[in-house]
Amino acid sequence: MPLPSMKDVQPTKLSLNAKFKFRCHKDVKCFTKCCKNINILLTPYDIVRMKKRLGISSEEFLDKYTRMELDEKSSHPLVRLKMLDDDEKRCPFVTPEGCTIYTDRPANCRYYPIGQGVMRKGTNDEPVNEEFYFFIREPHCLGYQEDTGWTIQSWKDDQEASYYDGMNKEWKEIQLRRHPFGESLDSNKQAQIYTASYDMDRFRRFVLESRFLEVFDIDPQEVGKIKTDDVALMKLGFKYIKYLLMLEQTLKVRKEHIKKK
Ligand code: SF4
Ligand code: SF4
Repeated sequence: MPLPSMKDVQPTKLSLNAKFKFRCHKDVKCFTKCCKNINILLTPYDIVRMKKRLGISSEEFLDKYTRMELDEKSSHPLVRLKMLDDDEKRCPFVTPEGCTIYTDRPANCRYYPIGQGVMRKGTNDEPVNEEFYFFIREPHCLGYQEDTGWTIQSWKDDQEASYYDGMNKEWKEIQLRRHPFGESLDSNKQAQIYTASYDMDRFRRFVLESRFLEVFDIDPQEVGKIKTDDVALMKLGFKYIKYLLMLEQTLKVRKEHIKKK
């Protein structure tokens, strides 16, 4: 299930071949204990899946279920799942029967009881991101007493965390790359990055209804796709963010809009 606080994390860095025994099911005494008072960072793809599952707009999802914060190092906007304001601070999606959005649960919930980290090596122009894993052993979690064996790779595949990783890869790379001049982002850029990362319905209106397509030369097939496909739109969002941050020339400006010096 979900992500823990860091206090019980074992920091030993593990590879994908590391073995462990674990099973989570409805008959464990701790069932759903892990779905409260937790800190879950949501990725753009998590939000695409969750808002679709709930049948609501991205604006409504963000407003009702998340809180935004700015990353201390990069000043990029990040979004976390908001717990309920009750004594236990439960996840809004947990019930005694389990997670009500289980097949669309966020990547962090899929990984649990494995934690994931990334170390950035290389340079800003040629970054090398090295992933590592660790076991999260929270005292209340009895899943480790079960007898089903895994490697971290087989666990990730079984929980569809590998698929989510593929969807989130580009966004994670953006998070690890700082602005080339090391500056904090201004509030206008932060707002644009927030929209292009998390608020797909607003971003779609921005792309289709502003001068965006007059300024940027986007493949007509891609334009057709983003009208209905949130994943295609999310990928255009990643290109736009890289362009905004001047990380890569991911978007082509139409000739008539190139400023003459
Ligand atoms: S989204 Fe589902 S699995 Fe994740 S914390 Fe909430 S109830 Fe638990
Ligand atoms: S076994 Fe662990 S992951 Fe499963 S419900 Fe219990 S605390 Fe949560």
